[in-house]
Amino acid sequence: FPVERIRNFSIVAHIDHGKSTLADRLLEITGDFLQRVTSRCWINCRWRENEESLLNYEVSRSISACQGVLLIVDANQGIQAQTVANFYLAFEAQLTIIPVINKIDLKNADPERVEKQIEKVFDIPKEECIRISAKLGTNVDQVLQEVVKRIPPVDDLFKALVFDSTFDHYRGVVANIALFGGRVSRGDKIVSAHLGKSYEVNELGLLRPDEHPTETLYAGQVGYVIAGMKEVKEAQIGDTLYLHKQPVEALPGFKPAKSMVFAGMYPMDQSEYTALRSAVEKLMLNDSSVTVQKDSSLALGAGWRLGFLGLLHMEVFNQRLEQEYNASVIVTAPTVPYKAVLASAKLIKSRRAVQKNMFYIDEHRVMIKYIFPLNEIVVDFYDQLKSMSSGYASFDYEDAGYEAADLIKMDFLLNGRPVEELATIVHKDKAYSAGKAICERLKESIPRQMFEIAVQAAIGSKIIARETIKAYRKNVLAKCYGGDVTRKMKLLKKQAEGKKKLRRIGNIDVPKDAFINVLKRK
Ligand code: GDP
Ligand code: MG
Repeated sequence: FPVERIRNFSIVAHIDHGKSTLADRLLEITGDFLQRVTSRCWINCRWRENEESLLNYEVSRSISACQGVLLIVDANQGIQAQTVANFYLAFEAQLTIIPVINKIDLKNADPERVEKQIEKVFDIPKEECIRISAKLGTNVDQVLQEVVKRIPPVDDLFKALVFDSTFDHYRGVVANIALFGGRVSRGDKIVSAHLGKSYEVNELGLLRPDEHPTETLYAGQVGYVIAGMKEVKEAQIGDTLYLHKQPVEALPGFKPAKSMVFAGMYPMDQSEYTALRSAVEKLMLNDSSVTVQKDSSLALGAGWRLGFLGLLHMEVFNQRLEQEYNASVIVTAPTVPYKAVLASAKLIKSRRAVQKNMFYIDEHRVMIKYIFPLNEIVVDFYDQLKSMSSGYASFDYEDAGYEAADLIKMDFLLNGRPVEELATIVHKDKAYSAGKAICERLKESIPRQMFEIAVQAAIGSKIIARETIKAYRKNVLAKCYGGDVTRKMKLLKKQAEGKKKLRRIGNIDVPKDAFINVLKRK
């Protein structure tokens, strides 16, 4: 395929505005001429029998592998938080943006209103919007014609963006790449812009979605290369590959993955430490955005401190550990990074949420930007916002850097013994209410035991809150009369299962969820 016939574009939208549906429609029309990527795979398809343009599009993250985007907006819901976020990603990458108003078949569709929003918020003339129904296929052809007309073709010096990389036990690192220009063949010498290291291409091929080895990959195609890289780090997501002796300017790539949420992770039982370590290591080979540091705690023993991109990322990682590796772990409540400066903190003026600006999208919707301390939004802010607004509000965030704040460390003690994993950093003004609330939640999450348990919150040596969990003699057999052996066995088994989920701290059994539950607001 001649390079000037190739278009790379992405479909981006707020959730449920119709990316997948439009993608399916485009595939139906284009057949083998369209190459598709979801987060992990591309499929080659054709765009009509006699059209000769090859189109690539991707549904998810690698906006930067494209020259243009289709920005889908629901004709009923209008612009939402991720619509704005996606627009800015594309805008900053200087891509051609084609606004597409989807679901015009809906009874409540109001494409005119949405066009006005697009004009007002993104400064794109409403004449540039394409009204479609992805569901019924209305105007989907026109979308393809506009892609060819408005989005520029790819370049002709070989440069490729690494948008994913995985580790294969036998073949080493497999880098998934999108070719922005030129071509690359088996035996070529390539260089990674990030580390400046050279490699020889041993194997390469198309992804559709499984690997199809070829001799050469061309501009606009998406495929994989294996080139003797030993670690995922050598094919970092967002890196640029080019041919030895034909250096190119590195592609803007992605923002480097930055850990925003940290949590401690410990085996349920120290005897499982080695197995868990190997599971964590394996998972990390496939996810270079997780950071890890060894850690240990008096109460929970040896473990790690892991850094994640966000709470969802953390949950997915834990789920994979439990499902794929059958690992049983304790995850401590997530924290966000702070930089501690030892200084006379009262001198520093602190602020919590600060409104930055407010913008009326139209008479019904307003977009407000705040700067929030990350710890205020990381656990359950989104759930609360959704429920308070009956699902209407949408939310997106980006890192705004560190800011000075009046923070103190609060410890929690079980029968006088501090539990490091529960220690938290709070704003000074919230210390009393947070301490009290967390003690109450701990009281709810920790089952009564054979002895009384004092739950205390402390700042330094000063106790600021206390709850008491009364002693309770737990005897599951008490309810059993006489000889029903099966029932007795069942109850004993149930009790044993219940125990498995408990973690012994000192002589106190703490359910593993307690660590994460304490930070959730009611
Ligand atoms: P995504 O989250 O952006 O990938 O959105 P989907 O493509 O999964 O669509 C979300 C929902 O909207 C699905 O139930 C679709 O059937 C529906 N949908 C998508 N396009 C249209 C359309 O043009 N008209 C109508 N009525 N529904 C649509
Ligand atoms: Mg979808």
